[in-house]
Amino acid sequence: MQRRSFMALAGSGLVCGCGAVHQLPVVSDGNIAMAQAEVRTASPPQRRWVSDDEAAQTLRTAIQLVRMPAINLCHQMNVGVCDWKFRMSRARDLNAGAMGYGQIVLNRGIVEYANNEEEVCLVVAHEIGHHAANHIARGTASRMIGALIGVAVVGVVAVATGSDPGRDIVDSAAQLGATIGGLSYSKEQEREADYMAALILYRAGLDLDKARGLLVTMASGSGRMETTFLDTHPAGPERLAAWDRAAAEIRASNGRVPQRA
Ligand SMILES: [Zn+2]
Repeated sequence: MQRRSFMALAGSGLVCGCGAVHQLPVVSDGNIAMAQAEVRTASPPQRRWVSDDEAAQTLRTAIQLVRMPAINLCHQMNVGVCDWKFRMSRARDLNAGAMGYGQIVLNRGIVEYANNEEEVCLVVAHEIGHHAANHIARGTASRMIGALIGVAVVGVVAVATGSDPGRDIVDSAAQLGATIGGLSYSKEQEREADYMAALILYRAGLDLDKARGLLVTMASGSGRMETTFLDTHPAGPERLAAWDRAAAEIRASNGRVPQRA
């Protein structure tokens, strides 16, 4: 009920700046129908077993691949937080979250479900996109939730400072799972984070078509796989269709930042 009242405020457009910072491409019914057809024929998601070490190493590699283009894009946009702290959670569901001041939590489940490096990079870049576009600070509901989560994350960091600096910190699944579950962004902000992810991957020289496989996995796995991503992120054919429109626009503009909304 409380969330509903936040949404009502958001809907008024007066109190909450929960929209996207940039103009995003229009997605037609035809685009969505094509994505629906693709999702219907996709094979069901497969989870493979990975060790903690492999999961951490894969996430580390993905962060390295996108980091510099992401920092450059973030400074060029000049609206959000460009200093990010990544942590891995042992949670096995396919999810991730951006919270607090530049905090990003990546579940090991991302690595378990990803078919390639590009798909992992998509998730990393998507969460960076939320910070770069300042989604945490924008909007009444997001700001309140962000403040609450900020407190929880500070606690985790304080506990973890004993480990080697510079190494990825692995946190307890339960605590971070609860943290991610509390996140809430508007649909437009989710679309914008995907657009920023596509832009970051493009500038990093990564294959956008390979990365989109994860969106197919999520859409086809909806209701069939273990994921809290669906609670915090829109999945499904609309998202896939929006990714394709974003990829087309980004290729045509050779990686330009879109116009401000
Ligand atoms: Zn998101």
